[in-house]
Amino acid sequence: MLPFKIAYSEKYFLPIGEHVFRADKFRLIRERLLEHRLAEESDFIAPTPATEADLLLVHSPLYVAKLTTGTLSAREELEMEIPYSPQVVDTFMLHTGGSIFAAEQALREGICVNLGGGFHHAFPDHGEGFCMLHDFAVAIRAMQKRGFIARAMTIDCDVHQGNGTAVIFGGAPRPASHLPAWGPNAHFVRRGEMLEGPFRDVFTISLHQENNYPFVKPASSLDVNLPDGCDDSEYLNCLRIAIDTGLSRFEPELICYVAGADPFCEDQLGGLNLTLAGLMQRDHMVLRAAAIHNIPVMVALAGGYALQVEDTVTIHTNTVIAAAEVYRRATSQTVR
Ligand SMILES: [Zn+2]
Repeated sequence: MLPFKIAYSEKYFLPIGEHVFRADKFRLIRERLLEHRLAEESDFIAPTPATEADLLLVHSPLYVAKLTTGTLSAREELEMEIPYSPQVVDTFMLHTGGSIFAAEQALREGICVNLGGGFHHAFPDHGEGFCMLHDFAVAIRAMQKRGFIARAMTIDCDVHQGNGTAVIFGGAPRPASHLPAWGPNAHFVRRGEMLEGPFRDVFTISLHQENNYPFVKPASSLDVNLPDGCDDSEYLNCLRIAIDTGLSRFEPELICYVAGADPFCEDQLGGLNLTLAGLMQRDHMVLRAAAIHNIPVMVALAGGYALQVEDTVTIHTNTVIAAAEVYRRATSQTVR
């Protein structure tokens, strides 16, 4: 049995046909967790779909109307890179409901995993890169609207930059500037660059491959542009510095960890060189930072396009295992 709940529904499957985005990965992760007795049936909670009112906390009324009436233009559908259907809209609303549930549950119990979501390329007025609705931005705004939190942080470790997240939560548009002082950690970073951008009530961190989609990268609060082929140790050094920097500047009441599986060395849409073990260390690093600072954390899955779908499933399953390990350790220390 897991020490936290997982938001999941069999309806998370996205009916998008043959696609590099394996929409069956959600079911396969659940099966792996059950098969290996890492989780029990009772750990999984089926969320209710987000409402239209929830979506409007982030998305424009015109865009929501286009989705619900099926009136996207051909160009808008092309940009989304997944076929439009009312069923696909329903599925994204369910994933968004899963992230809202995960945020609420994290605030109640310290941690929760949505076994879906992480659609960080969705913008207020359009979808992009397999993302129709920005599930975790809606979840954060919903928590703020309900008065549960004022400030949140997103830590996005998908290999692609979180462009939708940056735009949704960005302050006044201005170009990102290089972080002026790398401090005592500077010598750890041999390659890559860290850029500082605006923040207001949500601090957004994105660690991603620079030479990859999206080619226009709107400023996150902290962007880490990683070089092609970046390996475990380089990546983990950059991640540690990014988390330390973020948490030294901002005190979130909720962290949303976007645990993309696509920094993996055998990913079809990524060009970084992380191993399975390195990715799990990454999970530990993010989740431990949240635990040490006593900040509730919700997890969303985001991308993962490994040549072998089993690897994508392993990476996401390992995130759940890491969450359980960190959470068990944190609660046992509290009890003592
Ligand atoms: Zn991605």
